[in-house]
Amino acid sequence: MDFLKTLGIGSSIPGCSSGRIWLSRKKRKKIQAYSPVDGEIFAKVSRATAKDYDKIVKTAQKAFEEWRTTPAPARGEIIRQIGLQLRDFKQPLGKLISYETGKPLQEGLGEVQELIDICDFCVGQSRMLYGMTTVSERPNHRLFEQYHPLGPIAIITAFNFPMAVWGWNAMVAAVCGNVCIWKPSSKAVVSAVALQMVISRVLGKNHLPEGLFSLVIGNGKSIGETILEDQRIPLVSFTGSIPAGRHVSEKVASRLGKTILELGGNNAIILTEHADLKLALPAIVFGAIGTSGQRCTTTRRLIIHESIYQDIKKRLVTAYKSLKTGDPLIEKNHMGPLIDKGAVKNFQKAVRLIKKQGGSILFGGNCLPKGKKFPSGCYVEPTLAEVRNDMDIVQEETFAPILYLMKYKGDIHEAIAMNNDVAMGLSSSIFSTHHGQIETFLSAVGSDCGIANVNIGTSGAEIGGAFGGEKDTGGGRESGSDAWKNYMRRQTVTVNYGSDLPLAQGIQFDL
Ligand code: NAD
Repeated sequence: MDFLKTLGIGSSIPGCSSGRIWLSRKKRKKIQAYSPVDGEIFAKVSRATAKDYDKIVKTAQKAFEEWRTTPAPARGEIIRQIGLQLRDFKQPLGKLISYETGKPLQEGLGEVQELIDICDFCVGQSRMLYGMTTVSERPNHRLFEQYHPLGPIAIITAFNFPMAVWGWNAMVAAVCGNVCIWKPSSKAVVSAVALQMVISRVLGKNHLPEGLFSLVIGNGKSIGETILEDQRIPLVSFTGSIPAGRHVSEKVASRLGKTILELGGNNAIILTEHADLKLALPAIVFGAIGTSGQRCTTTRRLIIHESIYQDIKKRLVTAYKSLKTGDPLIEKNHMGPLIDKGAVKNFQKAVRLIKKQGGSILFGGNCLPKGKKFPSGCYVEPTLAEVRNDMDIVQEETFAPILYLMKYKGDIHEAIAMNNDVAMGLSSSIFSTHHGQIETFLSAVGSDCGIANVNIGTSGAEIGGAFGGEKDTGGGRESGSDAWKNYMRRQTVTVNYGSDLPLAQGIQFDL
């Protein structure tokens, strides 16, 4: 595996770093890095202890003192260099993502490109941390707002985007003057270590203090819980499942800390009778099977007007027959494995429940037999099912390539009601050429999701927009637009440059 060599990854790896310095790997418990592609344990990564974590936070606090006074455009210059460094390592990083998570190589490379893009975006952002000036009601007074960094912030990430989610958070947070402590998913630790190694070159070249970008590997229960309870961490940005996010929210709120929550989705595409199917079909298939259905923005539900339902069903079955599943590092394959055996069990359980709750499987529904072609036993068939929206299993986010087909009979309002009738509110889209239908979908009575797309699928997002969702998706926003404000504290300032002190309500003191 040439990419591991290029990245300097051996078989035993330290899992805790304050930048360039890696803390000892001796006498630490290990996480076994497993590839769902071939089922191999390809590295052992040391887990941080509570003492290691404490050291990391203290180092980060010290770095923050220096970093917060570094002019923001100078912070942007470091991010520019990180972007250049990532360009040099795009191939091996993309291959590692593909090998560790099972997503196709093109998606792995695309994830690194997203990191590069967010670096470019943040270079510009570093010159645009704008505050507003407004008018004071008092004479000789100036009223304005400004933004200051928060301190050491924690970034807890999910397995499915093992590098990009760190970038959406860390690059934005850093240009805002914060320092970052990253706890990655235990299912994708080597991607995190490799990324830390790549960026540490930039930190070293610029003689930056330790503690700007730290990495702490441990599981959710140990290091994760410690972060949630740690009063020294003013903001926890959490990406993961809804139950874990609910817990994170409660825990951090109980100490009045801030959170950014990026949780699960149950995303739908509405296909009206005016849909252009030439656009819709590739968007549906990519949205449903990309990353083996393990994206937060995966298309899970298709809400189809009854007049075109049979046609869509036939076309999708034909399209699914042509899909190739196998080693994701081989370009001809469209879909790789699920992340692990636990995910396979969830897939099997969902298929059972679909049938039990009155749905039917139109295509797929099986695990692919373990053997030479599918060595890890984590490969499943892309699956189509005919269901009703109110079935319990359809209301859940099953993190697998299962696409639900359902019909609507009435007007666009009925389709929108079905789109909104789930607990999550992340991504949504409509395929239609009818102006009234599109505008209704985008209006106040339309989609209730954080992302509403027209004639483009639900999956993925451009970094320039604010990314996140409503309801059980958690309400957080990351990446572009004004999401940077979530990483800063806002201050309203009044300056009196006159020689009088006009008090409110005209109160007078005889002083
Ligand atoms: P997960 O909830 O199992 O784990 C996410 C992270 O939380 C991991 O780093 C894990 O170690 C940590 N964690 C778990 N318990 C914790 C605790 N008690 N305290 C602190 N940290 C804890 O999620 P996953 O299986 O890795 O990822 C899949 C989920 O993430 C899906 O629901 C998906 O929709 C969601 N997701 C959302 C977005 C988004 O932007 N909305 C992006 C990617 C993934």
